[in-house]
Amino acid sequence: MGLLCLALFSELFTYKCNKTIPAVIEQQVLTALSHYPELKDTNIRFTFTQKLKGSVMAARPVVGSLFKKREKRVYEILINPVFKLEHSFEAIRQVPDSVMIGWIGHELGHIMDYESKSTWELMGFGISYWLSKKYIRKAERVADSFAVNHGMGPYLLATKSFILDHTELPQAYKDKIAALYLSPDDIVELVSELENEDDREKEKILAEEEEVLREAETESKH
Ligand SMILES: [Zn+2]
Repeated sequence: MGLLCLALFSELFTYKCNKTIPAVIEQQVLTALSHYPELKDTNIRFTFTQKLKGSVMAARPVVGSLFKKREKRVYEILINPVFKLEHSFEAIRQVPDSVMIGWIGHELGHIMDYESKSTWELMGFGISYWLSKKYIRKAERVADSFAVNHGMGPYLLATKSFILDHTELPQAYKDKIAALYLSPDDIVELVSELENEDDREKEKILAEEEEVLREAETESKH
């Protein structure tokens, strides 16, 4: 795989390595993936399925792959090709690009979280997620935070507003999203915290540079 990955060097194309992506959403998926260079070689299958109950997308490890070597681990992002509205259905391909990118970005946040876990931890995670609302809430917030930390704040906001302001989406679904996920305000706050951190980081670097300059100056005076 290494060689092939090296060979695919055109911009977004680099992110296709070890990924299976349906053509209709390829551009959006690759844009989201470009925010996660850590996942460049990770095996991820993006699959349309109508089996998801009550959600539009879900990310999970492929169970069979958990017993192989760590590099062979495979993840799956399941995507419902249609989502239920109050009185009708809407095809996922009608969703605006930024919303789709944000949605995938959130799912990739889950994969970042899984990547830090061993097989046993992942199994425990699966059980806790299944049993505990509190745990779901934590896991969803972790995924959102990963996405924000990877510069996807504006996309996530587009996704959240799309869901929360979509008058035709079932209220129960909106309530679920509001209860378990970061709110648009939370995201704005996270983004600004991150920017402040960047500023502090820059100040630190500037201070260090000045220090080095001063040292160089004093040395040159000797
Ligand atoms: Zn999620």
